[in-house]
Amino acid sequence: MDLKLNSLLAQGYKSSSQIARVLTEGWVKQNSYCPSCGNNILNKFENNAPVADFICVKCNSEYELKSKNSALTLKIVDGAYETMIQRINADNNPHFFFLNYSNKTFEVQNFLVIPKYYFINDIIEKRNPLRQNARRAGWIGCNILLNNIPVLGKIFIIKNSIIENRNKVLERWAKTSFLAKQNKESRGWTIEVLKIVDSIKNKNFKLQDVYAFENILKEKFPSNNFIKDKIRQQLQVIRDKGLIEFKGNGLYQKI
Ligand SMILES: [Zn+2]
Repeated sequence: MDLKLNSLLAQGYKSSSQIARVLTEGWVKQNSYCPSCGNNILNKFENNAPVADFICVKCNSEYELKSKNSALTLKIVDGAYETMIQRINADNNPHFFFLNYSNKTFEVQNFLVIPKYYFINDIIEKRNPLRQNARRAGWIGCNILLNNIPVLGKIFIIKNSIIENRNKVLERWAKTSFLAKQNKESRGWTIEVLKIVDSIKNKNFKLQDVYAFENILKEKFPSNNFIKDKIRQQLQVIRDKGLIEFKGNGLYQKI
């Protein structure tokens, strides 16, 4: 894997967004592999394909690439809100690659993948409608909130200019791929509990530490009257998947 973007690909393009697009798409095609199965060949879809940018020729996983030529931020500005919501709820929604590169060195700094099953409505923030005097008055865009995704869902292939070990990347992917098989509601619960565990600073924690989030969960799942039961059930789910350990007597440990 080479961090350098191939600047020759930008020849003939004028707009900076088009240049960023051809450089980063070219880089992914040349350098990336499929983080789901490890296969080396990602084929590019035709431009403006409605579904995604890349497809793995082996496992058929589809990926959409979001790239920027400045620092990686926790909030990523994206297109139309309604389109994005429809997209992430569709059966054929893609996994998302996020890439940022330096405008000075033209080297990739961060490249991560977020599997599609982490895209629940919660991570899409509605922006204010454009003002009356704007060209597209009333249009509503969205932001993708990376900080609303559990740590396990942000799988870095390159982090701060360092290339991660490929086997580690595939292991990280495999760790939570069970989410793909859950229905939307259970998945929402598992993701919320993973986020709570992330937010607890200590490696060891108590059941009470998770119960402390009961009110927040009640707001997210207003029709559920058994939040504590659900918390225990979800802790069991992530324990069974090897993401935390039970130490007994209401004590847990992060792995
Ligand atoms: Zn694959």
